[in-house]
Amino acid sequence: ANNGKVDINNLDTLAKISFPLCMQQLHQRLRKEHHLKHFARLQYILFIKGIGVTLEDALRFWKSEFTKKMDPEKFDKSHAYNVRHSYGKVGKMANYSPQSCLKIINSNVGPSEAHGCPFKHQDQSTLKKNLLQNGLSSIDSQEVLDFVRRGHYQIACGIYFQKMHGVDKVIINHPNHYFDESQMVLNN
Ligand code: SF4
Repeated sequence: ANNGKVDINNLDTLAKISFPLCMQQLHQRLRKEHHLKHFARLQYILFIKGIGVTLEDALRFWKSEFTKKMDPEKFDKSHAYNVRHSYGKVGKMANYSPQSCLKIINSNVGPSEAHGCPFKHQDQSTLKKNLLQNGLSSIDSQEVLDFVRRGHYQIACGIYFQKMHGVDKVIINHPNHYFDESQMVLNN
């Protein structure tokens, strides 16, 4: 339903103001390292599809980053297919859904991998640093971390949302829901 809603040129801004932490970190990693590993690619491409980035824009975005470190031919051969595949345009033509929090929280994340849920997979000092960097006060980040310590990752994410948007009572169970809610709050 969101198809074509998001202009690729706004991704940096949107990542800052409306992405949940799990997707913000993938966006930043891609911009910084011009590469994402397999599971991170999958997690992120389905998310941006879900927020309304068209296939053409997604290919342009992905290619512009990856080819900073990779031949365009190699990109076209090995990565363009995967982007099209995620959009259901090749292969089984399945319309893959963006991943839910549950799936992301339960994924296995290796040492140098960027996918997963920061509330679950990031060590607490890095997480705290990121919360503060994004503008949370130290009291507010403490509140978030208290839920993390008790294993309530989605609640922690909901509290983070509330603090970032100045609202209360938000339940987060999907990164794309986080994005839609955020846009609703910000555009009202
Ligand atoms: Fe992303 Fe869900 Fe984790 Fe929030 S709780 S950071 S939306 S996976």
